[in-house]
Amino acid sequence: MSPQASAQASMDVAPYVAMNGVGKTYASSRGPVTALAGIDLEIRPREFVSVVGPSGCGKSTLLKLVAGLENVSSGQVVVGGKPLDGPPDRLGVVFQRDVLLDWRTILDNVLLSIEFTRKPRADERDRAVALLTRFGLGGFEHRFPWELSGGMRQRASICRALLADPELLLMDEPFGALDAMTRDDLNVELAQIWQDTRKTLLFITHSIVEAVFLSDRVVMMSKAPGMIVDTIAIDLPRPRRLAVRDSAEFAAYVQRIRHHFAELGIVKE
Ligand code: ADP
Ligand code: MG
Repeated sequence: MSPQASAQASMDVAPYVAMNGVGKTYASSRGPVTALAGIDLEIRPREFVSVVGPSGCGKSTLLKLVAGLENVSSGQVVVGGKPLDGPPDRLGVVFQRDVLLDWRTILDNVLLSIEFTRKPRADERDRAVALLTRFGLGGFEHRFPWELSGGMRQRASICRALLADPELLLMDEPFGALDAMTRDDLNVELAQIWQDTRKTLLFITHSIVEAVFLSDRVVMMSKAPGMIVDTIAIDLPRPRRLAVRDSAEFAAYVQRIRHHFAELGIVKE
């Protein structure tokens, strides 16, 4: 199936997230800033969609609109069949800068996602420990965030987002501040955990390679105001290991996306 055809086929299922004609204009001291215009985006249940685009093109804005953290200026966002008026139910969010609380242990930070609503049960503590172990943080449960490396902190942030068993996981450049090797490791771990849990995942990145490696579909955005310029289905087999990046198919996807950005004057070829 051609990428266009499979991008089309993926839409046969009712979407979990639907953005219809969404625009966002911020008020600022220099006047209004239109961050997004005419965004139409559908994400089907259990799909992994990445949004890739240059800095300032409105990626974080798009994520905040889906998270219900900002209001749209025009259009509509529907999550789980309901038009948004605040954060949707069963949502997990991971940001570029981990937001761990320095005075709580790693385990207590992970349990925070449940504690907002009630006291964690013993089985949830066990599940938190199991998640941490799965992400290579076994034995670090009772350490504090400042005792951990950036990669470990971001792993703990992912555990926290997963513990409440969200339907929808939003990640805004979660690996952007990590060194290349740690980032590779976390790419593989995220691909694996997504395959095991099949959350609906909206992943923001400015790395084309990361987007192609992780995603079912890659959404390309252009700058000022941010608009979707293309959507590309990634028909690479799963599970994906880092070696897939050496394949001709992988290189062809990266090249195609980079070429498209070059045509738009966003990157040099
Ligand atoms: P990205 O995440 O792709 O780097 P953002 O969504 O953060 O882009 O920002 C898109 C545009 O909106 C930028 O021009 C940015 O300066 C502007 N912007 C973002 N947040 C605000 C805000 N709260 N107030 C005013 N302008 C904002
Ligand atoms: Mg951003």
